[in-house]
Formats: sequence, structure tokens, C-alpha cells
Amino acid sequence: MKTYNDVYMEARRALRSAGVEAYGLEARLLLAAAADKSVEDFLRDVRLYPGGDFEARAQEYLDRRLAGEPAAYIAGSWEFHGLELEVNANVLIPRSDTEVVTEAAIAFLGDRREARVLDLCTGSGCIGLAIAAAVPDCRVVLADIDRRALMLARRNALRTKLSQRVLALEADALAPPSRQLGMFDLIVSNPPYVPTEELERLDASVRDYEPWTALDGGADGLDFYRAIFARWPVLLKADGCLALECGEGQSETLRRFGTQVGFTEIAVFPDAGGTERALTFRRTNENEKSEI
Ligand code: GLN
Repeated sequence: MKTYNDVYMEARRALRSAGVEAYGLEARLLLAAAADKSVEDFLRDVRLYPGGDFEARAQEYLDRRLAGEPAAYIAGSWEFHGLELEVNANVLIPRSDTEVVTEAAIAFLGDRREARVLDLCTGSGCIGLAIAAAVPDCRVVLADIDRRALMLARRNALRTKLSQRVLALEADALAPPSRQLGMFDLIVSNPPYVPTEELERLDASVRDYEPWTALDGGADGLDFYRAIFARWPVLLKADGCLALECGEGQSETLRRFGTQVGFTEIAVFPDAGGTERALTFRRTNENEKSEI
């Protein structure tokens, strides 16, 4: 009879020889899900002999992974910025690249008291929830056009015990915002930004499994940025900040868009691979300026 550990070692080996980069992490995630345990509990119990249909489920999950389905969708969860979030095929799997805009947003908020934050195109809720977890007294609105994503974002707010300070609301980033949303210290977004033509050329694990509505940024990939710059800054407080993730090669264009609508302080943040991945946009405070 095999222990959890025996099955784990076999799964690691299979994933590794199939060229899965994070084979150890993914093996743990898949087998913990097959065992109906958290990863932590799975690792604690790794010397035990599994009961029930664990081996059959583990094999099924492994086969699905080897056929190309992302581990996050099979396991139904993924970690982002230290939060264990539920994910499903209605939302993008939170990427480590997205920690860049998240960190920039958290740094902007600093020790602002009771800041109001809007996460547009929130998907799983990953950015807004990570901000809510890091900035103890801020209030966060998670907004998405997709109701299935919103339901998931809401469940993630409960799961991370942040629901007292987090609301999930339906909103279309391409349309004028409702003024009833109120004013915000920070608007953050990782909108769809892949040019439509390039969707077909994305990695198969993305192209065949992740929702195209969360990726498709229109003909040149910039539709959402145009709409966000044109329509959403009216909801920013005078000393507020707009923080955006972008794709490779888009940062210069975003900088221009920002300048055109009157943002004067623009900062760019690279990801771990050196790609300019996030920007923050603010308006210089005229009073501060005249004191210099
Ligand atoms: N970074 C994602 C990808 O390349 C795209 C995310 C987005 O469009 N917001 O798959």
C-alpha cells in the first residue's frame, strides 16, 4: 500500500518529466485537493496511508494536468500575495506579475486612514483582497461585469475573512461609472489587455482554459485603458491614485494616455523579468508645489 508521500513523489516525477516548471508546488496542490485537505494538512499527513478514493482522484487530477489544464482550475484554489483564493474557469488565475501593481497600490496607500479602494475588472478579487489584507482599515469595492466572477470574488472575501470591509459590485469598465459608487483614494485595475489577434497565439494552458473575456483588450489591446482614462478618474479624490497593470510594450502608451488626461506624477514598476508591468498615476498637488 502506498502512503500519501509515495503518491506525491510519483506525481512530482510525472509532472517534472512532462516539463511542468513548478512540479513540486503543483503536485502538492493537486494531491491536497484530491485528499480534500489544505496543502498544510496534506504535508502534515504525508506519512499516512490514504483512504477512500484518493488514489483514483489523484490520478484523475494528474491526467487532467498532463493534458494541459492549469493546476489552479483542477484544485479550485491558488495562492496570491499570501492569500489562498478560490478560482474557477470564470476568472483568470492570479499571476505573480499582478503582485507588482498590488504592491504599488499598497505602497501608495501607506498609512492613509480609512482609504476607499476600487478594484475594477476584479475577477477572483485577488488585487482588492490583497490590498484589504495589507491595509487594515481601508474599504474595498471589487467590481466586475461578470456576475459569476463577482460571486466568486464575494466567496473569496468571506474565505479570507475580509468581507466586513469588502463589497463586490457589478460594473462595466467600458461604460461611464455610476456616481453612486462614491469617491476613491485609489482605483486599481488589471483589465483585459491582450490584442484580440494574439489570443490564438497564447500559451495553450491560457488559450484553451482561461476566460477570453478577461484577456481580450480589443484590436490593439488598449480598449479598457482608453475607457478607464476617459471615464473613471472622475471618481478619484484630488490626491488619489490610479494604478494599472499592463502588458509588455504597453507602458509608454499608458504614460501618454495618463498625461493626456492631466496626470502629472507617473511611476512605472517592473516585474521580476524586467518588463514594465504596472504604472501609477497621480496629480501633483498644486499647494505642495507652490511651497517649494
Ligand atoms: N498577463 C496575462 C497573460 O499574459 C494577461 C492579463 C490581462 O489581460 N489582464 O496571460
